[in-house]
Amino acid sequence: MKRIGLLTSGGDAPGMNAAIRAVVRTAIYYGMEVFGIERGYAGLINDQVIPMDMRSVSDIIHRGGTKLRTARCMEMLTKEGKDQAVATLKKHGIEGLVVIGGDGSFRGAKCLTEEYGIPTIGIPGTIDNDLEYTDFTLGFDTAVNTCIDAINKLRDTMNSHERISVVEVMGRHCGDIALYAGITSGAEIIVVPEIQFDIEDIVMRIDRSRANGKHSNIVVIAEGVMSAEEFTKKLQAVTQYSVRATNIGHIQRGGSPSMADRMLASQFGNKAVRLLKDGIGNRVVGIRKNEIIDMDIIEAVSMKKTFNYELYETLQMISL
Ligand code: ATP
Repeated sequence: MKRIGLLTSGGDAPGMNAAIRAVVRTAIYYGMEVFGIERGYAGLINDQVIPMDMRSVSDIIHRGGTKLRTARCMEMLTKEGKDQAVATLKKHGIEGLVVIGGDGSFRGAKCLTEEYGIPTIGIPGTIDNDLEYTDFTLGFDTAVNTCIDAINKLRDTMNSHERISVVEVMGRHCGDIALYAGITSGAEIIVVPEIQFDIEDIVMRIDRSRANGKHSNIVVIAEGVMSAEEFTKKLQAVTQYSVRATNIGHIQRGGSPSMADRMLASQFGNKAVRLLKDGIGNRVVGIRKNEIIDMDIIEAVSMKKTFNYELYETLQMISL
């Protein structure tokens, strides 16, 4: 393979730029040409294609967001849209494609391989960590660190005023950001979509912690359950302590990627190009038990995300 394309799609995530850099530099190392496609599948359909060289990815390893920008593109779900996307690839002589995004983006890549025979490789770029086949997705670690930083600050003021802080974090239908941020920031309670919450039990745990000498509490709630505002109203109705709501919001999606995300990005990008170089497509890359792996796209997107109940129990045991 002599010429490959690269795009970022779906929600952005810290580490996407570092992955772009790794893809471009690895491809050049192997003597391949690389074309960046701007605005995800929308740019592929509208022929927004730019040549990438060694210097085009200088000074981005530490930057959040994505240099190629990203978009959601409904046209990609239609036959006309996909035909147009493939026409753009053919026009530029692009033989294989690296897609950095979440499961929706992977489904787009799968269509290009299955229906048009274009080899594609998916790199999991989403802060949600909602893909079962990989232990971690790109951006998750940085997003959790951003949540920890916010919770540290909230804890200061909650302690002074002896309040309860309800903190909403992202993750869509997945509770991983809440779970990891909750454990590592010392939150007393996490509320996630995977486990039905019991408000009386939460009040009991808070009361017990106060009886044990705590002056404040942190409740981390995943956006997939309900908003922090809504949960705060429910909790305030049944507790004697003052409750305040905070939504960390899109701050979680930005910022300089952590060491873990830069490392993952570098390894994922490198692996993706090595596969394409050997003519292997229809795969996604990931990390399992600290090892970089690749897997069939269809198999990967059809795996149902499981929740780490052991970590949840750990939090229950050590948070009070
Ligand atoms: P995130 O997890 O951050 O939201 P994502 O990749 O899952 O990322 P989606 O909005 O689901 O985000 O998908 C991104 C884009 O991928 C869509 O806008 C669309 O262009 C394309 N896509 C999604 N599903 C399909 C599909 N079944 N067939 C073809 N293209 C698809």
